[in-house]
Amino acid sequence: THFGFQQVDKNAKASMVAEVFQSVAAKYDIMNDVMSMGIHRLWKRFTIDCSGARAGHKVLDLAGGTGDLTAKFSRIVGDSGEVVLADINDAMLRVGRDKLRDKGIVSNVKYVQANAEALPFPDNSFDIITIAFGLRNVTDKDKALKSMYRLLKPGGRLLVLEFSKPTNDALNKVYDAYSFHLLPKIGELVAKDGDSYKYLAESIRMHPEQEVLKEMMQDAGFEQVTYHNLTGGIVALHRGFKF
Ligand code: SAM
Repeated sequence: THFGFQQVDKNAKASMVAEVFQSVAAKYDIMNDVMSMGIHRLWKRFTIDCSGARAGHKVLDLAGGTGDLTAKFSRIVGDSGEVVLADINDAMLRVGRDKLRDKGIVSNVKYVQANAEALPFPDNSFDIITIAFGLRNVTDKDKALKSMYRLLKPGGRLLVLEFSKPTNDALNKVYDAYSFHLLPKIGELVAKDGDSYKYLAESIRMHPEQEVLKEMMQDAGFEQVTYHNLTGGIVALHRGFKF
């Protein structure tokens, strides 16, 4: 049936995503630096600056992978706060946990293996939720956004950092050439895994652009939703509140 096909496609996407991140986990951090020429660090810094995080806050770093944002939040929220790094993939979680432990970040971080579509936390339990370069991998984004809304405390905020649509045509062309031709080659060379990086480029192209994601967040219940383009719209940071 038609419904049956959808089901198969969804499952196929989920297992494909699982395979990709299982396969890139060990090389993930170095690839991030190489592919973005280090710029992902600035995008993440900006996300922290817009998060309003302070001592005592409870933060969920969803699809947190190797824990770049978790490490930064952990320092801000201190021992009276807590950061939960949640990711669907155990290989990414393990790399993240080892990295953070090596940095001496231990006491206020928890690691949870979870799917963004079915989050195992009580309602109204987080001050801040972030999902950085994660939402595009989630099969049912509307469902995931609704569960994030449910988990936020009233007054809490969601930050979605994700690839988006470059605002300028020339940049769009250069960027397409980069992501479809050069990126899989770099993936093959550095991580010996061109296919995974081809998937990543394709998932970036399919992801809803700025205004569409803004509407999706509003539909999930978020208020005062705004976005900020970074690096000419290659990436955008969306922010919304639950009141
Ligand atoms: N947030 C980290 C960062 O910015 O460096 C990691 C981003 S990485 C590109 C995407 C992460 O999303 C992977 O660790 C992957 O396992 C995770 N992921 C994919 N689908 C997910 C889902 N449905 N629920 C939770 N995490 C998911």
